[in-house]
Amino acid sequence: MSKFSSFNFSGHKALIRVDFNVPLDTNYSITDDTRMRATIPTIKKILGDGGSVILMSHLGRPKDGPTDKYSLKHLVKHLYELLNDGHANPAFGDGSTRVFFADNCIGEQAALTASMLKPGEVLLLENLRFYKEEEKGDEAFAEKLSKLGDVYVNDAFGTAHRAHASTAVIAQFFPAEKRMFGLLMEGEVVSAEKVLHGAEKPFTAIIGGAKVSDKILIIENLLQRATDIIIGGGMAYTFMKARGGKIGSSLCEDDRLQTAMDILEQAKQKGVSIHLPEDSVIADKFAADANTDVRPSDAIPDGWMGLDIGPKATGIFSEVIGKSKTVLWNGPMGVFEMEKFQAGTKAIAEAVAASTAHGAFSLVGGGDSVAVVNKFNLASKVSYVSTGGGAMLEYFEGKTLPGIAAIKE
Ligand code: AMP
Repeated sequence: MSKFSSFNFSGHKALIRVDFNVPLDTNYSITDDTRMRATIPTIKKILGDGGSVILMSHLGRPKDGPTDKYSLKHLVKHLYELLNDGHANPAFGDGSTRVFFADNCIGEQAALTASMLKPGEVLLLENLRFYKEEEKGDEAFAEKLSKLGDVYVNDAFGTAHRAHASTAVIAQFFPAEKRMFGLLMEGEVVSAEKVLHGAEKPFTAIIGGAKVSDKILIIENLLQRATDIIIGGGMAYTFMKARGGKIGSSLCEDDRLQTAMDILEQAKQKGVSIHLPEDSVIADKFAADANTDVRPSDAIPDGWMGLDIGPKATGIFSEVIGKSKTVLWNGPMGVFEMEKFQAGTKAIAEAVAASTAHGAFSLVGGGDSVAVVNKFNLASKVSYVSTGGGAMLEYFEGKTLPGIAAIKE
């Protein structure tokens, strides 16, 4: 693979897999363009070098071939505006970046438009998932796509855990020096590798959220790497019950009690400290207007449930985070969507920010952790916020992501 930032794209046609899977309203207006904006630096670097850009993406989940609803043509105008600093009217010949659209991603029109593309121009291809071959990882389809450009850039980390034609299979049709990660994907990969393979110790992983079953693989992988694992959120109560605690009607997966015991045992053997919340904010119902109290997490009265970590737990967790050189955070400490149960998550967010300010490397991400970051305005105060969702979760689980492997191999 080559390094994107040091590659000179002059005279090259870069075929970029982007994630333009943006939400559209019923008038086909984009309601959140974060994913499009995120990849603009990658596109601009190539155009600035004197290269041209061919963009391919999926949009939604079309079931039976081409559908107007899922056409990427709805994105052309906005893409033009993003590339031309907000100017709305494509007036060709005025020095603006031209954006073409091909109403297919393979075939004659796509091939012809791609071949005629001049340096500084952009071509957006129609939805890859109009072909079943995309998600099946079909080689012949991937090879057809590969013919459109001479350099392959993957900037769609969000789909890196899928072995699809455009995200992984296609890479083999480019020589090693002509395939690379885009700037967005490079940021995700570098941060994830830094935490999982080059973490400075003490390394604390904070794992929260609803269910143990969703996070078992992550915890097992982190047991090999972290010095401390903080477990909060609904999943903590399965651990509490496994240790013989009374958890009232808190969230619990009874079929995972043995798993929880196994994790605690493994941690002991490996010398990893697992921190469970000593106390909890409890509620008499799962509602914003519930009555609340604070109790030890292993002595919750019947009919009450733990919906946030308590003040003692918050203090202990913050102290552990404060001593860390590397912090990985996935999942809230409580039902942070409700005001009465957000204090724990907010305090942990502040502890992660403070630790980062003192020089720790902190990565927040996986699943919907980005919602937590946004709610508590944490984005600029941690080292890296991953938008990789499911792909980042699989990376934390220790899996090899096909989209990463395909570029590197
Ligand atoms: P996850 O997607 O697994 O990261 O879980 C996030 C969800 O877990 C959020 O919607 C939280 O409201 C929920 N959650 C966190 N703590 C608890 C808890 N103690 N009881 C029930 N749900 C919780």
